Amino acid sequence: MRLTKYFLPVLKEEPKEAEIVSHRLMLRAGMIRQQASGIYSWLPLGYKVLQKVQRIIEEEQNRAGAIELLMPTLQPADLWRESGRYDAYGKEMLRIKDRSDRDLIYGPTNEEMITDIFRSAIKSYKDLPLILYHIQWKFRDEIRPRFGTMRSREFLMKDAYTFDLNQENAVKSYNKMFVSYLRTFYRLGIPAIPMRAETGPIGGDLSHEFIVLAKTGESEVFCHADLLEKNIPSIDLDYDGDLSKIVDDWTSLFAATEDVASEEDLIANVPSDKRISARGIEVGQTFYFADKYSKPMGADVTDSNGKQVSVFCGSYGIGLTRIVPAIIEASHDENGIIWPISVAPFEVILINLRAKDDECSNVCQDIYNKLKKANIDVVYDDRDQGAGAKFATADLIGIPLQLIIGPRGVKSGEAELKIRKSGEKENIPLENAVQKIIDLIVPNRRDKD
Ligand code: ATP
Ligand code: MG
Repeated sequence: MRLTKYFLPVLKEEPKEAEIVSHRLMLRAGMIRQQASGIYSWLPLGYKVLQKVQRIIEEEQNRAGAIELLMPTLQPADLWRESGRYDAYGKEMLRIKDRSDRDLIYGPTNEEMITDIFRSAIKSYKDLPLILYHIQWKFRDEIRPRFGTMRSREFLMKDAYTFDLNQENAVKSYNKMFVSYLRTFYRLGIPAIPMRAETGPIGGDLSHEFIVLAKTGESEVFCHADLLEKNIPSIDLDYDGDLSKIVDDWTSLFAATEDVASEEDLIANVPSDKRISARGIEVGQTFYFADKYSKPMGADVTDSNGKQVSVFCGSYGIGLTRIVPAIIEASHDENGIIWPISVAPFEVILINLRAKDDECSNVCQDIYNKLKKANIDVVYDDRDQGAGAKFATADLIGIPLQLIIGPRGVKSGEAELKIRKSGEKENIPLENAVQKIIDLIVPNRRDKD
């Protein structure tokens, strides 16, 4: 992509309405635009990040054996009357009437609809276990939308649903999702800690919130410091094998949200040099709720004895549009965003310091072509602008590598390579530039481990 042909409406001024750094930076970097309270457009740069986040989530869900489908945003109210949640959900649910006066809702979640899909097709234990998921917009009429897309009213969520014959198998499915979450958040560059959580309006008895520690987080949390150092299960993992050891290993150390534990619990359970009492951002949650929906909605299967039984279910959410600001909260400096390579909108920015100079532009064009050919996600700053403005934009939008080419370097056969994260700069021979970038990017995409 060439910046002269792109749509990147960066802001020069500090947006006054933004209270936290991720919101400020997403507005300044031209990633989002607010259209109404808690409702946002995703502009090209932001949307590119969102799509990379989505791809990683899909890869890890699929790897764990979950199957993707797509349910609508609008749902008939009658389904929610069956489960009893149409009345129970309250004002957070957006209720709509169509032209025939039928009640619809804009889905805040999809337990009812997925249970309806399940019961329409699955009748036998032989078709279990089953894990279905989708990535779709949700609406919750939050009383206080704030912090940009961190807490919005319309937001994009991945929600998965597991169906099993009995509790023992349902826990196996829960463990699959639990482990896939560890891998997902690691690949997204925000190692999130699973913490014991309250189950809330979705109900049930086994639940974890996946929390990214951050000063601006809305949740108060307590945990054992060793959880920050734990190894992430590798890609070679067998999802049909025994995952309980991995889950036990993570859950045996104390970690809980303030809804289920207190500072006193932390003190009682963790040695003093290992206590973490902090704030965090909830980026995902796993719930096991057994037959809470399957029973009232008649989602039964026949078991091996020919008996009708309600299926045992769980639901598993990840907030995609919250993850993007969460990554920024975890990774930025005074000049802007610092994207992890795996979700960076572009992996490298090629900065032409003299766009009007033919020699400079030819060298840049050649490198640009070679990077594209090597499948490096490159953006080419070919704008006729001063160096200072170009550096500021590159830092602000957080591209991991900057390759800087100017007339002096072209004469001496050199380019400057800057690493956004460390600020390190290095002169490299022009003929090595492409290979050097490949070597820095490809092994660090976190797609092979
Ligand atoms: P919160 O406690 O932050 O209100 P929740 O526990 O009600 O969230 P869940 O029902 O667990 O949310 O939804 C799954 C995921 O969806 C959350 O972990 C979060 O990442 C995301 N999410 C929920 N509400 C919002 C929102 N208003 N804006 C952005 N993301 C959200
Ligand atoms: Mg939650």
